[in-house]
Amino acid sequence: ATPTALLVGTGRGAQLGILIKGPQVLESTRRVDTIVLDKTGTITTGRMTLSTVVPYECGSADELLGLAGAAESGSEHPIARAITAGAVAKLGAVAASSSFASEQGLGVQAVVEGRQVLVGRPAWLIDRWQIVVPVEMQAVMGTAEGLGKTAVMVAWEGQVRGVLTVADTLKPTSAAAVARFRALGLTPMLVTGDNAAAAQTVADACGITDVTAGVLPADKARVIADLQAQGHVVAMVGDGVNDAVALATADLGIAMGSGTDVAIEASDLTLMRSDLLAAADAIRLARRTLTTIK
Ligand code: ADP
Ligand code: MG
Repeated sequence: ATPTALLVGTGRGAQLGILIKGPQVLESTRRVDTIVLDKTGTITTGRMTLSTVVPYECGSADELLGLAGAAESGSEHPIARAITAGAVAKLGAVAASSSFASEQGLGVQAVVEGRQVLVGRPAWLIDRWQIVVPVEMQAVMGTAEGLGKTAVMVAWEGQVRGVLTVADTLKPTSAAAVARFRALGLTPMLVTGDNAAAAQTVADACGITDVTAGVLPADKARVIADLQAQGHVVAMVGDGVNDAVALATADLGIAMGSGTDVAIEASDLTLMRSDLLAAADAIRLARRTLTTIK
């Protein structure tokens, strides 16, 4: 390959709003046959909004929302932003929190008004904090998840205090982009840390049939390595801190321009439009550029 022709490719990439780390990237793009997509912030807008607040053995829905909103105020996660914004909208403000800590892809803990508040995925509350989940709350979560929502559990003083659900929306171009990936001969796959029902709802809406849900951040990279071990050449598109290792593991890491710095640093390409159609453009561009060179 002549370096000049490759640089023409990267110049065209810039016009399309695709930032390419180096000309060598186009080369690795050519053989890609599988494209792994993150859900939140990649296929969906990632601008989640609070939908329901279901208290359980706690003062009131406002108390539940207030304490959860305060605990989540230290997190940048889309779920956290939705909960804190929902609390501020309903209550005017949230209380101060201290001793904040978060576990990537699992949840947050913080001390609010003297209580240790936990907000996160149920499995994390059960396994890490030995919280017992009442059947009523399991049913609430099941119903919400069946509607494609993301449900998180809230606990303090060692007990479940309720469930909050948040909802996200598909980016308007995601379904068209999935069709373009298929037309390019790529197999699209959805890999997410979110629950299976929410993942399936998004997959159905954009035409993806291959879904892996409930994946921990470290395991996203393993999904990619497994595909590579089967002989696939894998592109991964993501935006979050939780996607960074997977983006670095993939043969071609593609970050959303709206994504976190760590995701962008771990990737080979960055999409300034934050739109999956740009990922299809990038793959087509790489193939065209390399065909011209041959
Ligand atoms: P995705 O793969 O869709 O980007 P993540 O790996 O970031 O999802 O998160 C997976 C799950 O972990 C969420 O669906 C949620 O249950 C839980 N979670 C992660 N961060 C938080 C948070 N700040 N507050 C509550 N729950 C969280
Ligand atoms: Mg994401």
